Amino acid sequence: MIRRCLAALLVVGFLCLPTAAQDVQPGLTIHVVQRGENLFRIALSYGLTTDALAQLNGIADPSSIQVGQRLLVPASSAAASSTLPQTHVVQPGETLYGIAEAYGLPVEQLAAQNQIVDVSAVYVGQVLNVAAPTVAAPALAEASLPVEAPVETLGQTVIHTVETGETLFRIATRYNLTVNDLARANSISDPTLIYAGQQLIIPGVEPPHVALDLPPIVTGLEIMPLVLVEGQAGRVRLTTAQPAQMSGAFLGRTILAASEQDGLTHTLLLGVPMFTEAGVYPLALTLTDSAGQSIPLTVQIQVLSGSYGSEYINLLADRSGLLDSSVEIAEQQLIEGLMSGFTATRYMDGAMGLPAAAAMNSPFGQKRSYNGGPFDRFHSGADFAGAPGSPVLAAASGVVVLADSLNVRGNATVIDHGWGVYTGYWHQTDIYVRVGDFVTTGQVIGTIGATGRVTGAHLHWELWVSGVPVDPMQWVRQSFF
Ligand SMILES: [Zn+2]
Repeated sequence: MIRRCLAALLVVGFLCLPTAAQDVQPGLTIHVVQRGENLFRIALSYGLTTDALAQLNGIADPSSIQVGQRLLVPASSAAASSTLPQTHVVQPGETLYGIAEAYGLPVEQLAAQNQIVDVSAVYVGQVLNVAAPTVAAPALAEASLPVEAPVETLGQTVIHTVETGETLFRIATRYNLTVNDLARANSISDPTLIYAGQQLIIPGVEPPHVALDLPPIVTGLEIMPLVLVEGQAGRVRLTTAQPAQMSGAFLGRTILAASEQDGLTHTLLLGVPMFTEAGVYPLALTLTDSAGQSIPLTVQIQVLSGSYGSEYINLLADRSGLLDSSVEIAEQQLIEGLMSGFTATRYMDGAMGLPAAAAMNSPFGQKRSYNGGPFDRFHSGADFAGAPGSPVLAAASGVVVLADSLNVRGNATVIDHGWGVYTGYWHQTDIYVRVGDFVTTGQVIGTIGATGRVTGAHLHWELWVSGVPVDPMQWVRQSFF
């Protein structure tokens, strides 16, 4: 019957649709849309494609379904369906009170079913169980359906580390998500650009509600990605109803924000230092309005550990003299001072380009032990194994702020891209630019070499954000502006 109806639907359109939900034809049953569900998830739970389900219900726009809407589903596949986990991913600016209200739950109930003791401690990206204790409008066949345990995503954010050969599509399918869901949760602009070792946030069901609880001057708050990772960067963007200035403090560091659109849009870039313990950390924002009044706003941010691996490095006696020597410290301070600056003008746009047409042979973040010591250092950039003399390219537009010969870093160039973003290029043979030069993406700024503390020719490429060295490849894969 259902097959015939479906087949007929394909041919003659809406003929088989009942006029009222009560007129359920044999072979069909009704699914009442619950909070947190979308057509894709419902289709999946009944073993249908989104298209087939949309067609069966005459739905032209699959994103337009509403809570309480009654959908026809084939009864034969209803037995295989399950009650979907009802989860809510905490968005920037939401409070437990607001979320409880949005889902019609007492806040005590919401706190209890999520083992939350301190209601002010919810954090951005936290996955909450927002299922009501009793189902308001159970579907006909739902009561007897086996409940699939949603343990995977409840109470914690799931992180998937990409393995060799995996595609975004395959990973999405594995977690019952669409490629779009996954791309959006991880700010991936090009779904073909994922790589082995990359850590992906596996979002829960798309939040159907937002429960923003922000000071009146704030009209929007966005954090990308929702969950930060050790050694990676994030972007916080806040909009205000009237001109204001913003600054922030995160992980013991003051962070300057760039204001645009006549002081109505404020962007702040966060870098999570290596060795930051996984946990929830406050981002304290301060808005100052045109009357000089300060408005504080604190957002709890989750930080996860990166998976960077570790390596032992043995330096020969004559070279290890450079470790921790006054030479290294002075040079470190020079670079730190230079790359922790903030220029209010942004010179770059879109994702960064690669700094060399060469293979990356050592990624950012590997934790290092020198000559058998503790793993208290890390690889602060990405290495490219280019032939000596091959071009070094500016990864993005900016102004050259250092072009000099250093002891450890060799012939070094630093480019200021604005808004607290800097890139560094170490160990070059030749430097073709001078301090003050404006360079554009892909411009040849020098050549690969083996100057400074190296064991062979390569380009070491470093990227700093708001005073913190972070994984430069994150900026190649995704666009922050
Ligand atoms: Zn390196």
